[in-house]
Amino acid sequence: MPTSAPKPMLIDGQFTPGSGAEPPLASVNPATGALNHHVAAAGAAEVEAAVHAATRAAQAKAWRTLLPPQRAALLHRISELMQRDADTFARHQMLENGKVWGECVAQVKSAAATFRYYAGVCETMTSELTPERGAYLSMTVHEPYGVVAAITPWNSPMTMEAQKVAPALAAGNAVLLKPSEVTPSAALELGRIALEAGLPPGVLNVLPGTGAGVGAALVAHPGVRMVSFTGGTESGRRIAEAAARKLMPVALELGGKSPHIVFDDANLDEAAEAVAGGIFEGSGQSCVAGSRLFVQRRVHDALVEKLVARARSLKVDLPDAPGAQMGPIATFAHRDRIAQMVQAARHEGAELLAGGHAPADDRLAGGAFYLPTLIGGVSNRAAIAQQEIFGPVLCVLPFEDEDDLLAQANDSVYGLAAGVWSADFRRAWRVARALEAGTVWINTYKQLSIATPFGGFKHSGLGREKGLSGMRLYQQAKGIYVGL
Ligand code: NAD
Repeated sequence: MPTSAPKPMLIDGQFTPGSGAEPPLASVNPATGALNHHVAAAGAAEVEAAVHAATRAAQAKAWRTLLPPQRAALLHRISELMQRDADTFARHQMLENGKVWGECVAQVKSAAATFRYYAGVCETMTSELTPERGAYLSMTVHEPYGVVAAITPWNSPMTMEAQKVAPALAAGNAVLLKPSEVTPSAALELGRIALEAGLPPGVLNVLPGTGAGVGAALVAHPGVRMVSFTGGTESGRRIAEAAARKLMPVALELGGKSPHIVFDDANLDEAAEAVAGGIFEGSGQSCVAGSRLFVQRRVHDALVEKLVARARSLKVDLPDAPGAQMGPIATFAHRDRIAQMVQAARHEGAELLAGGHAPADDRLAGGAFYLPTLIGGVSNRAAIAQQEIFGPVLCVLPFEDEDDLLAQANDSVYGLAAGVWSADFRRAWRVARALEAGTVWINTYKQLSIATPFGGFKHSGLGREKGLSGMRLYQQAKGIYVGL
């Protein structure tokens, strides 16, 4: 068991252990239960120091007067350093949330590409000259908020952190990054390479700690002018309530219960592969996991047969084992919660078609594993079909026709994403337009592009990250008039 001092946090360009007022966070490997290390947690004193440093850094000439090409050069450098240290980043994520190695490596690449993309956006976005209406010129320019807090979850820390930090810096803000208490290490590495890249001290601060502690303190602090949050819907609601008191803008990327829809004219092999990938990749711990399968009655049995075969043949293993397709759940507590939800559904009459328990493999007995699980015999109104499970659990729900499908698929408080499989493009288009979701995939699933805005309808969120407008999220417009 490691006995070294807790990893320090980053405030004002210095790695510091902080005051020690908060108990350190334990970073645990969910594949084995072993302690990786401890991480120093920020408390009230560190929040105060970091907000002070970020406020000063946001206003200092060294950052405020940098031209977009100069900020872009820094973002490019961060992207390069992230790729140079890709193995370190990937390893931290694998050891903290248990994602399989290949997925961790792909996520570092994606995070580095996000920094590169926002370097380009930063350098090319223009201010606008608005149409003439009199003897004056009017322009719209876009200015940073100043100090922005970025609060992230544990499922894909590197991509989520890049998705917030890169555009917020491109926009000219100073950032206070609060990573999940489960996965603080990748954020600390990001802080390290940002300093190496030459970001001025205080422009990026990294404050590990709990949501109720440092997270809530950042949201409430008068010096924080905007919050960008990704996480659960209930946490998002609490943040929005606190932000309302300060009249502070928030961007909220929240939970989902995404419908994955298969019509009877779809290519069933392709659909089965995508449906399985859409729910079992990352052990189902994805906000856009397709967790409700709507399958047209005529092909129900054929598709279920293919999915059961896939669920049973997926290689659930240690995340660095060769060929591993699914690792553990990110924490033991979360694994137990998933198991309880499946158990409760069975008590209410759900039929277990595959999985529903931990693997019987002795090598995996010390980890938080749970098998790919398929559930049938429930209605869309059942708790298991309505609540976000955030695990490898798919509910299979038959439908009759398009009207029946839309009524059921849209019957959810969430509206993050959806998938439609059909050979009839007119129908697929009609359904895509009628679905209440921020992202709809037709004959593909979980295809994500940094250039395409992303966010939720209904209780899945507020605002859109990514794309050109992803930088504007971190800026406020100012009109300037010049008399002629
Ligand atoms: P969570 O809401 O428990 O925590 C997310 C982050 O918020 C953590 O850093 C946590 O410490 C912090 N936090 C919690 N309460 C807070 C508060 N009151 N004030 C300030 N900060 C607070 O979520 P999680 O369990 O880490 O992540 C899983 C959830 O995230 C799922 O619901 C999932 O759907 C969602 N998610 C959404 C997206 C998306 O883009 N829409 C992406 C990934 C995950």
